Amino acid sequence: MPAIDYDLEFLENGKTIELISIGMVCDDGREYYAVSSDMPVDHILNHQWLKANVWPHLPLRGYKPAPQINALQQSDGSLDMTDTRVKPKWVIANEVREFIQAAGPDIELWANYGAYDHVALAQLWGRMIDLPEGVPMFTHDIQQEARRLGIGWNDLPKQESGEHNALADARHNQTVRRWLAQQGWRGAS
Ligand SMILES: [Mg+2]
Repeated sequence: MPAIDYDLEFLENGKTIELISIGMVCDDGREYYAVSSDMPVDHILNHQWLKANVWPHLPLRGYKPAPQINALQQSDGSLDMTDTRVKPKWVIANEVREFIQAAGPDIELWANYGAYDHVALAQLWGRMIDLPEGVPMFTHDIQQEARRLGIGWNDLPKQESGEHNALADARHNQTVRRWLAQQGWRGAS
């Protein structure tokens, strides 16, 4: 079954999940990456973990991370609105719908610890009932597949670089999913 591996970066507060960025890779070789121009930048910069781990990967202008020689030169910068990957959420919703539909009717979605990713993905289009034709109603989880095969997380392929960049994470999810599939075949034979 062909698959799309994906990853979202998001801000969540226990009540809402707000899209920051999305990366998707399809078994047919296509890739998609977008950053939401609608993201709540102030809240993200007030979130220490997101500010340190997610923000630096986004298309930014004037970003000068600490420590600089002169701490006064430190700047969070701002989203680079001239970067074509930065788009309003409604445009991302249309493009992601097309990306998934172009993969064919039997496409599987896969993510890592993907419950929140699936909800945030589905909410691109609004309510559960608004999910477009051809977009699967659930996401397979590579964590579940690893457990099913009795493989511990430390035994899986490690991500070389770009952790918490949504596209780099999606590519790594594809690597891990394919590796798990090979282990599954080995176990079955
Ligand atoms: Mg990620």
